[in-house]
Amino acid sequence: MGIVMRGPRPAPSHEQLAPEDLPTLANLAKGRASGSTSALIRKTPLNPVYVAWIVVPHLLGLAGLALPWSARDVAVAIGIYLWIGFSVTLYLHRYLTHRGFDMKEPLGFLFAMGSAVGLSGDPVGWVSHHRHHHKTSDTDNDLHSPRHGLMHAHMKWFLREPADLDDAIRPLAEDCRKVPYLRWLERPGFFMIPHVVVAVALYAIGGLPLMLHGLYLPWIVMAHHTYAINSLTHKSWFGYRRFETTDDSVNAPLLIMSLGEGWHNNHHAHPRRASHGLAWYEIDATKMMIWLLERVRLVRNVHW
Ligand SMILES: [Zn+2]
Ligand SMILES: [Zn+2]
Repeated sequence: MGIVMRGPRPAPSHEQLAPEDLPTLANLAKGRASGSTSALIRKTPLNPVYVAWIVVPHLLGLAGLALPWSARDVAVAIGIYLWIGFSVTLYLHRYLTHRGFDMKEPLGFLFAMGSAVGLSGDPVGWVSHHRHHHKTSDTDNDLHSPRHGLMHAHMKWFLREPADLDDAIRPLAEDCRKVPYLRWLERPGFFMIPHVVVAVALYAIGGLPLMLHGLYLPWIVMAHHTYAINSLTHKSWFGYRRFETTDDSVNAPLLIMSLGEGWHNNHHAHPRRASHGLAWYEIDATKMMIWLLERVRLVRNVHW
């Protein structure tokens, strides 16, 4: 792979990955006579294991609506939402994928576990797929462009993705494999372990209400905000464009609960910038958290 390592900083930004990294995917798609990566996915049937991985936590979260709430349930739900949310926005996206700043341990470990608790798959897989998206945004090789269907972009793409396509994309996140706990999470099924540990712990402490309210309801809200970044923030009618990027990305004020990821057009224009909200009215909770972590020196060298 064409990943270039320079100096003590272990990881290049995705922009440094050469276009030669992609032919593997093109060849894979051609091998199925489909012609493009997105066509390859759309021709693949839904994977029942992935469907169960998403449907079961939805059912658990919705079942929680029928149970009475306690103040403790509310507090835990907010805490888990912020943990699994920032684990995606601050850690997987702005740190690990785009290298917008450096991060100290054990903060990285805490967020890696949070991403697993939030059922985001393993970080190497997440990073490689998102780097691939930035290289191919809204082309026929984009994994999840809404040009190929809104539901395809929202969820169907990862429920259908063939295993060999996933394998072919993963080298785009080779730099992440230097971190031992990220290699551990990449082992088949291992990213489920932190999730199960937290679910069982909540059940042991507060029974079914705490588990369903504290983990699965915030998960539903967080998961659909993440999916919406792939679907709605690439639809022109869902927001406004500040930059004339080559993709369809927009800034979406309605996705305020996405912790700042809704300013997606700003992000596509400047992928490495740690701040996605650029105007005073573009509220960006992840930017505020990075600022706070920089003040206490847990985060450094921020590309503001
Ligand atoms: Zn995008
Ligand atoms: Zn990105």
